[in-house]
Amino acid sequence: MEQDKSDNIARLKETILREYPRLSSTDKFKFECGPHLDCFNDCCADVNIFLTPYDVLRMRKELKMGSSKFLHDYAIIPFDDKQTLPVPLMLMEETDKKQCHFVDDEKGCTIYNNRPWPCRMYPLGMASPSEMVKEDSSKFFFLLNEDHCHGHKSDKEWTVEEWIADQGIEPYDEFGELFKVLTIHDRLRSGWKPTPKHVEIYWMGLYDLDKFRKMIFESSFLDRYEIPDDEIATVKTDDEALLRLGFRWVSMALFGERSIPIRNEEDQKARLEAKILKKSD
Ligand code: SF4
Repeated sequence: MEQDKSDNIARLKETILREYPRLSSTDKFKFECGPHLDCFNDCCADVNIFLTPYDVLRMRKELKMGSSKFLHDYAIIPFDDKQTLPVPLMLMEETDKKQCHFVDDEKGCTIYNNRPWPCRMYPLGMASPSEMVKEDSSKFFFLLNEDHCHGHKSDKEWTVEEWIADQGIEPYDEFGELFKVLTIHDRLRSGWKPTPKHVEIYWMGLYDLDKFRKMIFESSFLDRYEIPDDEIATVKTDDEALLRLGFRWVSMALFGERSIPIRNEEDQKARLEAKILKKSD
């Protein structure tokens, strides 16, 4: 079943890239959404929503939930043997309707302020041919005009850029770009397969941030890597700063990028000795 899901997603990606009309940021479309429409909430069921690390960060913030529990309760990893780094899919309810866990019949989305990127963008999507053709790094927008959605009958007109500004997409862009750079890295494109250890680092550094924070402060991480004191202090409580560090750590561990300076051997030794002395006090 998971293989079917992956195949369907791959087919949809190809169709979008080959057949969907491409919109630029100044192109216009008509759309509105709200409880006054008879299709309200219909788009929040049986839908494939891939979650980026920043989506997970924002949703957890809304739900006040730990990262491991969130990923366990609300995400699945679709089986895909072509995909080397797993991107979780948001889990739908196991009912006939397969509704999203966060939709309420009356109120709509109960995590609206921190809903994931695809839910903000809907009915727009964004695609990049670089996923299939490396030389083509251009990205484009496309309109999903699904039968169940009656919002397209509205006279309310938007340009793509107006919609993006209205839906609060901007903070998602910084982290979306970092994620894209990592997932289409040349090393992966050249056919290199990450080992299970690499995948573990990727998962912890980008998705399971509570575990990553614990590792930073309870292992020899800070003795090995040179991270400024003010950044260390921020990372203790600020999930966005932690995720930025996560991206640097993962790109270093997986691709050998020099994104975090490594302490020289003497420094590492001195820090270790100071620790041992402190323990024996
Ligand atoms: S997160 Fe919110 S907007 Fe997205 S599918 Fe679920 S209920 Fe709908």
